[in-house]
Amino acid sequence: MMHRIAHPSLGINGDDADFLRWSLEYLRQRDFNFVTVEDVARSVRGEISLPPRSVSFTVDDGYWDQTEVAAPIFLEFDCPATFFVTTGFIDRDIWFWESKVDYLLSQCSEPLFIRFGGRRRAQGARQMNRQQMAEALKDELKNLSFTEIEKKLVEWASDLDVQIPDAAPEKYLPTTWERLVDIQGMGLKVEPHGYRHSILSQESEAESRKEIEKSQNDLRARLGKDSAVFCYPVGREVDFGVREEQAARELGFLGAVSAVPGCVNIADRSRLYRMPRYSFPDTKTDLIQYASWIEVVKSSVRRRLA
Ligand SMILES: [Zn+2]
Repeated sequence: MMHRIAHPSLGINGDDADFLRWSLEYLRQRDFNFVTVEDVARSVRGEISLPPRSVSFTVDDGYWDQTEVAAPIFLEFDCPATFFVTTGFIDRDIWFWESKVDYLLSQCSEPLFIRFGGRRRAQGARQMNRQQMAEALKDELKNLSFTEIEKKLVEWASDLDVQIPDAAPEKYLPTTWERLVDIQGMGLKVEPHGYRHSILSQESEAESRKEIEKSQNDLRARLGKDSAVFCYPVGREVDFGVREEQAARELGFLGAVSAVPGCVNIADRSRLYRMPRYSFPDTKTDLIQYASWIEVVKSSVRRRLA
């Protein structure tokens, strides 16, 4: 699971493009097979069998750097990565609430004073740097519905005397439908990741289903194909539930992915609509560990201890 590709001059933190290239080369040399997430789902369903040493890459959200920087690298290695896109973001109807938090903090000088749940907290008092402050604010928002998040952001912006622009600043821009059509034509996969990136478990049942279905319909209209796999926004264990798994099944998806760390166990059909993913690592050691059985053994020990 990847998100943004680092772009230091624009201040974008993320995965390093050269390290992605190194990783794909490393896996290729060791006879790993790059497969699509759709194939992983089909394999869990018993429809196909995957070759040994199969690995699948996913890129979430739909930012411009993903199609401009990451996509060409995947193509270089014939790796059919899956790009999960938030369709309201590509349409430029919304920009990410996570980005808005980063934007807010980037616009004010320290120390920062922000209202959390009715109380005012100061950055200095909590010994937080900007990054930690951003994480704390995002965690706060992860307990809210989309409407509540937008309201809270307006409150914080007013506290900080910052105006959140309607359109995303350059650093936070989405890719375009044209580019997504292009990369799909070149063999990469594009699948839905909600319409507004709202946290489905925080929405009503009808609203949650609408989020999934609208992104599915948008992709059908824009890319002329049926979606195979859904990706839950945010995707932690608490961000979706049986209700969303049921909706994904009823809407015809072959499976769905979460952001819970782990390997997909092909023999475990019970997790077809909550397939885990590992975050793309930062170091060669971690990549090598993910590509060996070490990580699987560690996860199984952790599960048993839990
Ligand atoms: Zn996301």
